Amino acid sequence: MPIAVALDGPAGAGKSTIAKRAAKALDFIYVDTGALYRTIGLAASRKGVEPVPSPEVEQLLKEITVDLTFNEKGEQIVLLNGEDVSGLIRTPEASMTASKISAVPAVREFLLELQRSMARTHNVIMDGRDIGTVVLPDAQVKIFLTAAPEARAGRRYKELIEKGMDVKYEDILKDVIERDSNDANRAIAPLKPAADSILVDTTELDFEQSVDKIITVIKENI
Ligand code: C5P
Repeated sequence: MPIAVALDGPAGAGKSTIAKRAAKALDFIYVDTGALYRTIGLAASRKGVEPVPSPEVEQLLKEITVDLTFNEKGEQIVLLNGEDVSGLIRTPEASMTASKISAVPAVREFLLELQRSMARTHNVIMDGRDIGTVVLPDAQVKIFLTAAPEARAGRRYKELIEKGMDVKYEDILKDVIERDSNDANRAIAPLKPAADSILVDTTELDFEQSVDKIITVIKENI
């Protein structure tokens, strides 16, 4: 049976960059499930559908296909109706729409099987909010990765500025706090550590230290 590492935690804790590096070191596939919610959010925005529970969202889900694939560098590509939208889903607007639409039960249900199927066929590090609690409750290793909101906002700010985006730190911090609250307080699959997860706080760790810590935790538990 393939090995599954569930990596959950709030926005901006460094899950994706840390997990990508750890996956490479361990020769696992890195699956970014946030990209799937972002893709549904993009599909809704394009159609002018509000990211709230509604018959319109359910209809939208009947009309779209979402697939995951990997390029030659092993990077995840997400396809919306066959179109590569991996770049388009990385804006602050897409983050907020994803956070809202991810609270819609039909959306979570729609993406469940796709996520599980990845773990049936590959050794994975799967990054999300409810991987250890809902998607892969039998994962061999469950990690809850977190950091103080200010540290998380600072890192995301740096990332977006480096991509040439015109953003303000205060706005990013506000977004981080609002998304935390959306994610933690929603009725379905709220962001919370699985009972059997290992808590890793990266507030005081730099990137290399965080990667080392995650790899150590994984190796100790598989
Ligand atoms: O991880 P990322 O920031 O790309 O996720 C975008 C949004 O998708 C999050 O704010 C969260 O609301 C939602 N999400 C989720 N469950 C997951 C992954 C992401 O609800 N497994």
